[in-house]
Amino acid sequence: MKIAVLGAGLVGLASAHALADEGHSVVIIDREGPAAGASRGNAGWLAHTDIDPIAHPKMLRQVPKFLSDPLGPLAIRREYVLPILPWLVRLLIASRPANLARSIDALIGLQSLAMPAWTQLSARLGMEKMIHRRGGLFAFQSHDDFRTALPHFKRQEAAGIRVEYLDGPEVRQMEPALTDAIAGAAFFPDAAHVSDPYLVTMALYEAARARNIDFLQASVKAIDLDRGVTVRFEGRDPMAFDRVVVAMGAWSKPIAATVGDHIPLDTERGYNISFPGSTRYLNRPVSFQGSGFVGTPLDTGLRLGGAVELAGLKLPPNHARTRALYKKAERFIRDLPSFDQGTVWMGFRPSIPDSLPVIGHSLKSPLVVHAFGHGHYGLTQSAATARLVADLIAGRHPPIDLSSFSPQRF
Ligand SMILES: Cc1cc2nc3c(=O)[nH]c(=O)nc-3n(C[C@H](O)[C@H](O)[C@H](O)COP(=O)(O)OP(=O)(O)OC[C@H]3O[C@@H](n4cnc5c(N)ncnc54)[C@H](O)[C@@H]3O)c2cc1C
Repeated sequence: MKIAVLGAGLVGLASAHALADEGHSVVIIDREGPAAGASRGNAGWLAHTDIDPIAHPKMLRQVPKFLSDPLGPLAIRREYVLPILPWLVRLLIASRPANLARSIDALIGLQSLAMPAWTQLSARLGMEKMIHRRGGLFAFQSHDDFRTALPHFKRQEAAGIRVEYLDGPEVRQMEPALTDAIAGAAFFPDAAHVSDPYLVTMALYEAARARNIDFLQASVKAIDLDRGVTVRFEGRDPMAFDRVVVAMGAWSKPIAATVGDHIPLDTERGYNISFPGSTRYLNRPVSFQGSGFVGTPLDTGLRLGGAVELAGLKLPPNHARTRALYKKAERFIRDLPSFDQGTVWMGFRPSIPDSLPVIGHSLKSPLVVHAFGHGHYGLTQSAATARLVADLIAGRHPPIDLSSFSPQRF
């Protein structure tokens, strides 16, 4: 079949490979080029050990504290308070116990596919060296904070995820650059991280081109279902395909709406600063709990990033947030390079209030498959999503129940 994959981020590129594996003729379409969106500069963490949606009470409890600090881990830009309200209402609904339990179950299912799918994809494309399996740390500033989080870790253990508990000195033995401000940590030995998300995305793209997957630079305007499935573009002729996969991350909402799927997709913007060449700081990713950021030792240098800003797709970045994040990091990591030595970046997480991506057929046509909305976990879940997309297009039974990911669940 001739299949268009809309979006050349991690999800689109991984899907293109999974579809080419099945013998389809695939064209990837992106208005800019590969790695133009969130896939370019994310934190690089293969966080398949995380199983909590953002609507979790553990997160929501921290909202008043976070919002009281305009440069803290969570902010809503004044201009975006009204537009984001319906999304926030859905977030609250997603936090009800029964809904939350459903989301956690679904997340456990998808996350369980994540590492096997990455292992297979990286082996298939000779990218094994881009995946570092050194675990990840969730670090705490006080024993009280650690105790509050303990039930959450126990739930992860109950879900079969390995966790080890470390006191301050044990943490510093693993990560000598961390200061005494860290009182302890939970260590996830099976977590992993990538060499650099940009390099990984580009490697997927180059491998795609090498196996004759086409690339077209064009801005998608709509999908028509009049005769089969046709993609319409800005300023160029429409093209007909046998199947279309929508994988345009945070920009997917208006395109999905053209085929009748109204998905409550918005964006949680995230910020980071990277220090090219600074590779001596951490051995593995560290999440600084309560401070809303992570540090990742990419092969290209240390990256400090995180935070959530609800501000839509159009407002300019506010890198005072990045500076605030850096200031906090100075308390936890010894001898950081100066802020001015770093490169700042802001990216658009494609976020759905229940923290589950949309993976499924369009309501109006089985010829269109949606694969977007991966929020905080799009790198982690991209290879697994690709396999599910291939299953949907082949009409095969997927390995997990996809009803919780259905575009029709809202
Ligand atoms: C600060 C930050 C840290 C993160 N850290 C992690 C992490 O550690 N681990 C993890 O798993 N995830 C992380 N994420 C999330 C992850 O980056 C995203 O979920 C993932 O990159 C989404 O991939 P995608 O392919 O769906 O979208 P994107 O990478 O955003 O790609 C979408 C593509 O669609 C294209 N496009 C948009 N509109 C059009 C149009 N009209 N026509 C044609 N093309 C179009 C864009 O140019 C873009 O290339 C993080 C995100 C951020 C912002």
